[in-house]
Amino acid sequence: MSRGKFLMVGAGLSGAVIGRMLAEQGHEVTVVDSRSHIGGNCHTERDAETGVMVHIYGPHIFHTDDAEVWDYVNGFEPFLPYKNRVKTTSMGVSGDREVYSLPVNLHTINQFFRRTMRPEEAHAFITGEQADTSIEDPQTFEEQAMRFVGKDLYEAFFKGYTMKQWGCHPSELPASILKRLPVRFNYDDNYFFHKFQGMPENGYTAMIGKILDHEGITVKLETVFDRSQADEYDHVFYSGPLDGWFDYELGRLGYRTLDFERFTHEGDYQGCAVMNYGEVDVPYTRVTEHKHFAPWESHEGSVCYREFSRAAEPGDIPYYPVRQVEEKALLADYVRLAEETPGVTFVGRLGTYRYLDMDVTIREALDTGRAFLADLGEGRAPKAFYQAPL
Ligand code: FAD
Ligand code: UDP
Repeated sequence: MSRGKFLMVGAGLSGAVIGRMLAEQGHEVTVVDSRSHIGGNCHTERDAETGVMVHIYGPHIFHTDDAEVWDYVNGFEPFLPYKNRVKTTSMGVSGDREVYSLPVNLHTINQFFRRTMRPEEAHAFITGEQADTSIEDPQTFEEQAMRFVGKDLYEAFFKGYTMKQWGCHPSELPASILKRLPVRFNYDDNYFFHKFQGMPENGYTAMIGKILDHEGITVKLETVFDRSQADEYDHVFYSGPLDGWFDYELGRLGYRTLDFERFTHEGDYQGCAVMNYGEVDVPYTRVTEHKHFAPWESHEGSVCYREFSRAAEPGDIPYYPVRQVEEKALLADYVRLAEETPGVTFVGRLGTYRYLDMDVTIREALDTGRAFLADLGEGRAPKAFYQAPL
């Protein structure tokens, strides 16, 4: 094919990165998004009242071990140093509400158990006296927690938060959700362990705007795509919900959505960017104070958001794919339908119905773009998925 005409549905990271790669190869790229802004769920915008840069769809911290992805993002927007140091409130052994350090580390353990253990002592204490080592191969979130930190820490820090976040008991969730978090027997309270961590100096939307800024790319906002428009293009890359493409004809894949409650404060409200609430009787999961994401800026006022999680209804923004047993069966049916549908590739967090961090989204978008161009060059039919959703 000489000059292809391609459509990206979604102006988030997936659509922007793939669109850019195709435009750089001389193709004509249109990017549509139903929202009034680019950036997808990574969208950032200055708060009109306080001037603080806000992560509109929830806190986004960039962390990766992938040097190519790190160089890619830094090539568009400088990233400044930022380490996420999350705190949580919970009920201590005294029965009083206290502030603890996350992820669970030596400070958390010593404070919680009112001890002064050194690393080896804490390790021996947790593995010998707390952890349920009879669980050999943890399958559920609860088993994973019981196996690695034991009942006391599980109930204080994970049980209530997870029930609020996912709307079900941790025994109904896969162990993989908890495996994202480390347990440390030192005082390292960096939430992530990746080599590269930071924040884009002017926000994610500025960065994604630069990715989209290419003469071969046309961006149309407030434009809802439906699949009848696909015929106007040689190929479509769709980063919307997989079941949405098929008008939910087999049923709806389950998602959690979030409600944000904004409030302002003069000065510093909580002293850190993210404060989790481990207690089940506090209805929100966390409070985010956005000015702490940009420590190089200075603001008198502060804007914060309380975050509430609930099951997504039709019309709500889908945030977290649930992926419990029923969803996986339905997903398999949609994947079969998708594989029988020519002219479209399903990409990103919604298109492949997976939990994807930004760095993984970019890595997959780069790989997808390359594989698609190779297929195009060799005259092979493009694939419905370049990353398997199952
Ligand atoms: P999206 O950003 O969802 O973009 C899809 C776009 O498609 C949307 O803008 C949507 O409006 C548009 N669209 C859908 N259907 C249509 C249609 N029919 N017509 C037109 N437009 C359509 N990652 C990290 O690395 N670090 C974090 O700290 C982090 N925190 C997160 C916190 C929350 C609360 C959430 C939900 C995600 C977080 N992520 C984080 C993940 C990050 O948001 C995703 O990796 C990234 O947004 C995925 O980009 P995407 O382009 O695939 O999808
Ligand atoms: N989690 C928890 N307590 C916390 C933080 C996290 O129980 O204080 C659980 C929760 O189920 C969450 C999972 O650990 O979904 C993974 O944590 P992460 O910070 O990666 O959450 P996410 O990015 O999914 O919001």
